[in-house]
Amino acid sequence: MCDTLAPAVPRRHPGSQFSLDTAIEWDGASRYLSVLPFRRPAARERPPEILQKTERRAMATHHLLLLPGDGIGPEVMAEVRRVIDWFNQRGVASFEWEEDLVGGSAYDVHGQAISEDAMKKALAADAVIFGAVGGPKWDKVPYEVRPEAGLLRLRKDLELFANLRPAIVYPALADSSSLKRELVEGLDILILRELTGGVYFGEPKQIIDLGNGQKRAVDTQIYDTFEIERIGRVAFDLARKRRNKVTSMEKRNVMVSGVLWNEVMDALHKREFADVELQHMLADAGGMQLVRAPKQFDVIVTDNLFGDMLSDVAAMLTGSLGMLPSASLGPVDDKTGRRRAMYEPVHGAAPDIAGQGVANPVAMLASFAMALRYSFNLGAEADMLEKAIGNVFDRGYRTADVWTEGTEKLGTVAMGDAVITELDAFAG
Ligand code: NAD
Repeated sequence: MCDTLAPAVPRRHPGSQFSLDTAIEWDGASRYLSVLPFRRPAARERPPEILQKTERRAMATHHLLLLPGDGIGPEVMAEVRRVIDWFNQRGVASFEWEEDLVGGSAYDVHGQAISEDAMKKALAADAVIFGAVGGPKWDKVPYEVRPEAGLLRLRKDLELFANLRPAIVYPALADSSSLKRELVEGLDILILRELTGGVYFGEPKQIIDLGNGQKRAVDTQIYDTFEIERIGRVAFDLARKRRNKVTSMEKRNVMVSGVLWNEVMDALHKREFADVELQHMLADAGGMQLVRAPKQFDVIVTDNLFGDMLSDVAAMLTGSLGMLPSASLGPVDDKTGRRRAMYEPVHGAAPDIAGQGVANPVAMLASFAMALRYSFNLGAEADMLEKAIGNVFDRGYRTADVWTEGTEKLGTVAMGDAVITELDAFAG
């Protein structure tokens, strides 16, 4: 045990624990997991109940904060805005949105990666839809105001501790993966990354001048029991609705935080989730297994740093970073009863292709679909958007990142057009 390393008082009060039961209630559809993106085969027919159902329902207006960011962020966010407009115009759902700066573009105007005003809007919004930040233009800005600081502040202040990253391979795209078709076809795994703790936030975090021409850089990996328990609980709850298997990854062979992670996961498993299969794997071996035989996994739960890397590896199994959506969920706000949430593509600002109109908007659009499902109880509408995306691939349309011989290459806006055309077809 490494209890002597633990601070006497928890760094954050564990009062607001995430339970998937809460999430199910909040989702309202009692099928929180069976509706993760892209799990169902694409079907061209319009699900007839979707619009009828939405027509019957008293329509609530949802307030969104859009933070497009830098590089390709604004390009892919523009396609989400078109989908939001489509939902509003068709009366399928009702959204109000406002937009603000984040990342390098915020630094250029405010000298910080997100302004206090934008943070207030984020805290007040029903959901934040985030594009991407960063780029070489800001490589030399002070560390504390670098573009990523805006993203980290949002995650921290909204307490978004659970990051869901599904990696699912569309049948039409199995050949776009860098792995052989048989390894990825039908892949459906979920990487659950702890998002508010660990080495990205641990203190001290500093560079010390040792005075002899040497400097020392210090990052600190810290995890408390409650942080591991609450993310573990989400993992087990998710697995129960899927294939009932959790693989917990850490580095207990070299890190005491890994020892505690392993112990807490084991204890939680015995105490509350004995019906779920729990497997432990060292994170480096896990990375290797992810590319050797990815279908062995169901839910992978891991810390902030390993989750960052492993989910990027999983991204390539699906063909391109441009395909991967994510949802980041926090606790329910005591005052408003709303669960804080932010939805963002896994990819970054892609400065190498920014401004060329070739970015794949699917990760961003699919992130919005996750918002429909997890923040607004609009599961059928999320299904519709995901089906529209699947149909576009079935018709042979591809952006450059997933293009293969015999398919038609489209730019960002044309891909958005194709998705809207499919939505139109559903709506009649
Ligand atoms: P990246 O994800 O921006 O790009 C990696 C590769 O994937 C590039 O070749 C890019 O062209 C391609 N790619 C990414 N998204 C794509 C899309 N939607 N369509 C087609 N191709 C796509 O990662 P990077 O190059 O390591 O980082 C670039 C900048 O983004 C850096 O400043 C980095 O710090 C930042 N970044 C931000 C986030 C974020 O905002 N969440 C995440 C990762 C990186």
